[in-house]
Amino acid sequence: MKTILVTGGAGFLGSNLCERLTNDGNNVICVDNNYTGRLENVQKIIKHPNFRFIEHDICEPLTLDAEIDQIYNMACPASPPAYQGRYSIQTTKTCVLGAINMLELAKSQNATILQTSTSEVYGEPLVHPQTESYRGNVNPIGIRSCYDEGKRCAESLFFDYQRYEGVDIKVVRIFNTYGPKMDPHDGRVVSNLICQALSGQDITIYGDGNQTRSFCYVDDLIEVLIRMMNSEKGFTGPVNIGNPGEFTINELAEMVVNKIGGTSKIVYKSLPSDDPTQRRPDISLAKEKLGWEPKIKLSEGLDRTIEYFRKRINRA
Ligand code: UDP
Repeated sequence: MKTILVTGGAGFLGSNLCERLTNDGNNVICVDNNYTGRLENVQKIIKHPNFRFIEHDICEPLTLDAEIDQIYNMACPASPPAYQGRYSIQTTKTCVLGAINMLELAKSQNATILQTSTSEVYGEPLVHPQTESYRGNVNPIGIRSCYDEGKRCAESLFFDYQRYEGVDIKVVRIFNTYGPKMDPHDGRVVSNLICQALSGQDITIYGDGNQTRSFCYVDDLIEVLIRMMNSEKGFTGPVNIGNPGEFTINELAEMVVNKIGGTSKIVYKSLPSDDPTQRRPDISLAKEKLGWEPKIKLSEGLDRTIEYFRKRINRA
């Protein structure tokens, strides 16, 4: 049994990870400031004797009364509408100050720390599919830069703490992920399209819908996070994690509409600035080092996610 800290543990990915780690028999400490995280995400485990929730903003140092073995640093607003606008400065602070505070904690506790970085470090990629050695094409002053540059700076901090402070680090770069516990209001494409179709609203496609994304089902992603955390000592990454199946947003919308039916019609809206044209992970490194590749196809993952949102909407 390990004692594991998950920052951002009430968010979409964090809460799925907390549930898995708790059910696997670990002691889990979940930290979240509840800006974009939601307590309802950890409802199933909130009373579990091995689970503890602490409301805290990682921009401030964190003192714990427990000895911890591992830290998953996942705290950060992650959907474009959430990190743009009024949370943009907070986003950079969370990425940078949060990383320093958690790396200091890892150092003082001799814990392994895993950083959830992002495919956004590649910006508008000029190399396709993206390999870890590609250094990216990020607009440093655009509306996505708080997140992109924040996450790039966090990676830089992780590697400096490894080089100069001897901290045991792991870095993964997460590509688009979807599934149960997504926030229906956070504006991401999968949740938007499903919720719009289920409630008979217009389905919004930004731009011409020919931009591509690669969508990974959450259970596959949680599995590889745990594998990376427990990988051989000294293997730091960065490692791309995601599903290499690549779809245009038009294709995604068509799949969602075919599955749900209903009366929704597709409407085209303007494309937000710096919205990447294409994105697909090269996951050779994850396959080789972690023996992992995603198992759940988009169609099956969408069925499960539609089921989740349908139940929520019926409950409401
Ligand atoms: N998008 C869309 N309709 C929506 C929400 C998003 O067409 O209602 C597009 C968005 O412009 C982007 C893609 O879908 O090209 C994925 O957006 P998301 O916010 O899910 O993630 P991103 O990969 O941009 O971080």
